[in-house]
Amino acid sequence: MADLKVNLTAPNGRKITLPTGLFINNEFVKSSSGDKITSINPTDESEICSVEAASADDIDKAVKAARAAFNDPSWRDLPATERGTLLYKFADLIEANKETLATLETWDNGKPYSVALNEDLEEVIGIFRYYAGWADKIYGETIPTTAKKFAYTLKQPIGVCAQIIPWNYPLSMAAWKLGPALACGNVVVLKPAEQTPLSVLYLASLIPGLFPPGVVNIVNGYGREAGHALASHLDIDKIAFTGSTITGKQVMKIASVNMKNITLETGGKSPLLIFDDSDLEQAAKWAHVGIMSNQGQVCCATSRVLVQEGVYDKFVELFKQTVKETSKVGDPFAEDTQQGPQVTKAQYERVLSYVDSGKSEGASLVAGGVPYKEVGGKGYFIEPTIFTNVKDTMKIYREEIFGPFVVITSFKTEEDALRMANDTTYGLGSAVFTTDVERAHRVAGRLEAGMVWINSSNDSDIRVPFGGVKQSGIGRELGEAGLAAYTQTKAIHVNLGLRL
Ligand code: NAD
Ligand code: MN
Repeated sequence: MADLKVNLTAPNGRKITLPTGLFINNEFVKSSSGDKITSINPTDESEICSVEAASADDIDKAVKAARAAFNDPSWRDLPATERGTLLYKFADLIEANKETLATLETWDNGKPYSVALNEDLEEVIGIFRYYAGWADKIYGETIPTTAKKFAYTLKQPIGVCAQIIPWNYPLSMAAWKLGPALACGNVVVLKPAEQTPLSVLYLASLIPGLFPPGVVNIVNGYGREAGHALASHLDIDKIAFTGSTITGKQVMKIASVNMKNITLETGGKSPLLIFDDSDLEQAAKWAHVGIMSNQGQVCCATSRVLVQEGVYDKFVELFKQTVKETSKVGDPFAEDTQQGPQVTKAQYERVLSYVDSGKSEGASLVAGGVPYKEVGGKGYFIEPTIFTNVKDTMKIYREEIFGPFVVITSFKTEEDALRMANDTTYGLGSAVFTTDVERAHRVAGRLEAGMVWINSSNDSDIRVPFGGVKQSGIGRELGEAGLAAYTQTKAIHVNLGLRL
């Protein structure tokens, strides 16, 4: 359909022809309701373009396409090695289009282009290659039971998987979810976030001619309509969600209608502990990476810094200095920009509302806390914000803020540090800085979190399981562990001659 495309010229001069339809059965189609999503450039608040937004009926069409593909021999009986080959080819196609994909990511999301291209796209390509390699190495076990019987297991795909992703890493989140799902032989209906619909649409345009129709369906849409329709659909077998804890709980509740298999990744308020024997300069640099990367819009951001009393003042000084020297806020397409705008006006206002909250609860604002307005007076830019004198009862200490916003407080002993670190409903990341190797591992063992960084912050690696405990989620993504989310085990008992 010729009208389901727009010709765009990006702020960096790149010309892009972008499909705007719902990607169902390897075709771009119109929304049945006529609903649209208008994508906004957070750098100057201009409209980029509009794309189709799925209704519940459209979700049903996508699910039917996926179900048909799941049952079709062209996918069901495809040898696993060939599934892997398709994933390798997908990675190659993404690589060949990486500048366009990174441009759309930066334009729509606001993250620095250098980060989108050199970090996010490299990860996306790496993930498809990593899971391509896994595709033919996913199998069960043989279990000897008695002399005349044995059992074996099959690791089978779960079926039709709904994948709901957030706006902070649109392409990476799509890759984290598509890679393992496809390697295991599932079919997918993926819904990007309404705040960032563009880059994943372009990704969809690379699929025809590669995966059979219906194997991958990508439908933009609003959470309350398309997201809800996915969570409640009776023919979806699995739902994988990344986003806020509150929405994650709703999805979990609604997904119970047909007892969907479920994985959730829902953010946190991750602590970073600094003991008095730490290399403070390194701690300051890593703490900066841990909270200010990606405009602070990182689910495992170390947003609560806890410093041992004796080095507290010195750390705060070093950290302020590091932030001042490294957080270059500005146009995300400019080469030296380190921090772009927040993704939307709503997020921008939300983050600033926490500045008011911190002040009114009596914490000390020592840096930032105001819009950054040097980029033509427009856009959702916020100066890197640091609060000290923070108490554990304050909202800014307890709630996920999701911006370039850090709270710093002090502790006395290791026990104090652990109690304070674990005093949260979340449990995604955590970091510990110390030069005492015994303490490092002792503390790592007791932090209630899915991930611990020792003398580092916010590392994630394609090969390493990622996910949370407590209200930060259920299940793991990436690595071999990520396969468990997309397979189910079938036990087959074999009688070799036990006669009754
Ligand atoms: P959200 O959780 O509402 O959105 C995430 C995804 O869920 C989007 O694709 C959205 O369309 C979908 N969704 C929304 N409502 C739904 C519903 N009822 N049923 C099914 N799907 C639904 O997040 P948000 O409102 O965009 O952001 C709010 C806060 O969430 C942020 O400030 C941040 O604290 C947190 N967040 C966390 C992550 C993360 O990586 N864990 C990512 C984005 C946002
Ligand atoms: Mn946008």
